[in-house]
Amino acid sequence: MAEPFDALELIKLKRDGGTLGPAAIDWLISRYASGTVADEQMAAMAMAVFFRGLDSTELSAWTTAMINTGERMDFSGLDRPTVDKHSTGGVGDKITLPLAPLVAACGAAVPQLSGRGLGHTGGTLDKLEAVPGWRADLTNEELLHQLAEVGAVICAAGSGLAPADRKLYALRDVTGTVESIPLIASSIMSKKIAEGTGALVLDVKTGGGAFITDPDRSRELARTMVGLGADAGLPTVALVTDMSTPLGRAAGNAVEVAESVEVLAGGGPADVVELTLALAREMLALAGRADVDPADVLASGRAMDVWRTMIRAQGGDPEAPLPRPRETHQVLADQDGFLTRLEALPVGIAAWRLGAGRARKEDPVQAAAGVVMHAKPGDRVTAGQPLFTLQTDDPELIPRAAAALDGAWTIGDRPSAAGPLIIDRIG
Ligand code: URA
Repeated sequence: MAEPFDALELIKLKRDGGTLGPAAIDWLISRYASGTVADEQMAAMAMAVFFRGLDSTELSAWTTAMINTGERMDFSGLDRPTVDKHSTGGVGDKITLPLAPLVAACGAAVPQLSGRGLGHTGGTLDKLEAVPGWRADLTNEELLHQLAEVGAVICAAGSGLAPADRKLYALRDVTGTVESIPLIASSIMSKKIAEGTGALVLDVKTGGGAFITDPDRSRELARTMVGLGADAGLPTVALVTDMSTPLGRAAGNAVEVAESVEVLAGGGPADVVELTLALAREMLALAGRADVDPADVLASGRAMDVWRTMIRAQGGDPEAPLPRPRETHQVLADQDGFLTRLEALPVGIAAWRLGAGRARKEDPVQAAAGVVMHAKPGDRVTAGQPLFTLQTDDPELIPRAAAALDGAWTIGDRPSAAGPLIIDRIG
């Protein structure tokens, strides 16, 4: 049977600023997923979209077409509302770890289908795999069972959700077409809509450690994703949050688990606690549980109980000591004063170079690798005190990691005013 559309014609139409109809988009994406539309043609289309954009009707059709290439999960049989969180990724962003058990302890169910890290932002699954015994891969049945019994699951997103996105994301990665708002928005939202969560809160990062650095573009991405959620009947709210400096005092794998456990124990860095509670409040409001105060639940220890149960349910031992690095190296302050600036991106790159992240998706990561920050912007420091501890199993990695931190911070005479962590709310 003759094909109803021709990929070349569609590429030229978008290249020249035309509009693609829903049937054409559905055809293009489904044929790309099945292999009839070639990688080079989809690469050209991605570049055309990069320059020409997609209007809201095209974007909705594009997202739906990506969802239709795979399965859709359904959590409607659970006896409590489901709500998920997605972060666009940042340095030291371990928020999912305390947040999922906290929201579950407040009475909602959290299906947190996550990915692994690539580049300078860590992956939630890589962090959790630092917990001895913990496994990321669950079958759909195990996921549903755990959601019903424990209320929180953090696991690997199966390959069945929006498989066209997996293929297209890999293609965009090597063709300079990642940083396109419609392509990012449809990529993220197709997976979240297919996942079947009842509501969604987005943490859209902005600043030097985020993958969109300009706040106005981050707002535009947030608005675009909130709009796609509304089109799909998925209540969605976005917070635009600062990623110019790392979140918390740890960037890496085991070190971020340890910091998350501190938060669950009622301590932890103020910024991690603030963002965890802000996202929890948004999630609970969307789930119809605005009457529960997550700060009280955190203080009660119930979130820690859910964390332990959640880790055990996936084979992990929450009491086991976390892996320790074979080598450490300290970077010292060279003068007295106040830390006035600490850039997120160099810290992320240092953690990555220490072995916490991967350059290619097949690479292994080191559980004990990472950067511990002994001072945050605003803190008083004295000459000779450690500013950072670099951790790795491989001493040869230390010089390049330390080099990434050159020029990453400033010590001044007086503390500079910190900007807000939560920059905007869109919903
Ligand atoms: N994360 C995604 O899942 N997709 C993108 O396009 C960018 C970030």
